[in-house]
Amino acid sequence: MIDFFKANYHTHSLYCDGKCTLLQHVEEAERLGLRQLGFSSHAPVPFDNRFAISVEDLPKYCNEIDSLQSETNVKLLKSLECDFVPGITYQFSKLQSDNKLDYIIGGVHLVKPHNGDELWFIDGSKRETYDEGLLKLFNNDIKRAVTTFWEQTFEMLETEKMDIIAHVDKIKMHNGDRFFTEDELWYKILADKALQLIKRHNVVMEINTRGLYKKRCNSFYPSMYMLTEARRLDIPVVANSDAHRAEELSLFVDEAVNVLEQCGYERTARFDTDLGRFVF
Ligand SMILES: [Zn+2]
Ligand SMILES: [Zn+2]
Repeated sequence: MIDFFKANYHTHSLYCDGKCTLLQHVEEAERLGLRQLGFSSHAPVPFDNRFAISVEDLPKYCNEIDSLQSETNVKLLKSLECDFVPGITYQFSKLQSDNKLDYIIGGVHLVKPHNGDELWFIDGSKRETYDEGLLKLFNNDIKRAVTTFWEQTFEMLETEKMDIIAHVDKIKMHNGDRFFTEDELWYKILADKALQLIKRHNVVMEINTRGLYKKRCNSFYPSMYMLTEARRLDIPVVANSDAHRAEELSLFVDEAVNVLEQCGYERTARFDTDLGRFVF
């Protein structure tokens, strides 16, 4: 039986694009018996957007987490989900030290083509946005587009400091087996390289349940073959719901833990508050 440390380290709130208050998440975490709850608003980005916390709200966000801590037995942790766009986004370690964050989640939601300034938004609810970007920015060359996503992920792992990598193969979400399949060799080589870098840089990988409960994807991020390879490489994992509402906090987490067990995992990682890092 897998030793699952009951926690969620990937949680959004009204401070960014989430739909619930921090308190509502804390109350749900108490009801579920979570031992740790990590808040991870989308980090500020230096361009107009509707998904990230603002720089001005960061002190309030951190203070509110601190004051909620005095009212709950669930250990609350401070984090940001930092976007990585080469040459554009803020340095992760600076966001962490400026705001005294417990840990950092790194992720790619916006892919920057090698030419031009426009970004390809691969996340969100609309498949049309993905398809339009693929046509406009990559001339429908799916291999070039997907390779650019993975190369941006490699660059993030090589140049930024993070504790957890978010939904590592999110690029598959809006693809839905239309333009490529995950068992094509070129794709597997890219996914494998990401795992090698995750291992080399001691990053924790999450199994993220959001694609399933939002019905945007028919598998977890990452897919089972990546998790099996991650187990072989002894990459630590956590199970995260990427909740944007309190009622999403535990959705599909039992199923995710089952998948981890099927892939050979014996435990999940947890945040050690004394060491100030994840242990596995
Ligand atoms: Zn994300
Ligand atoms: Zn997220």
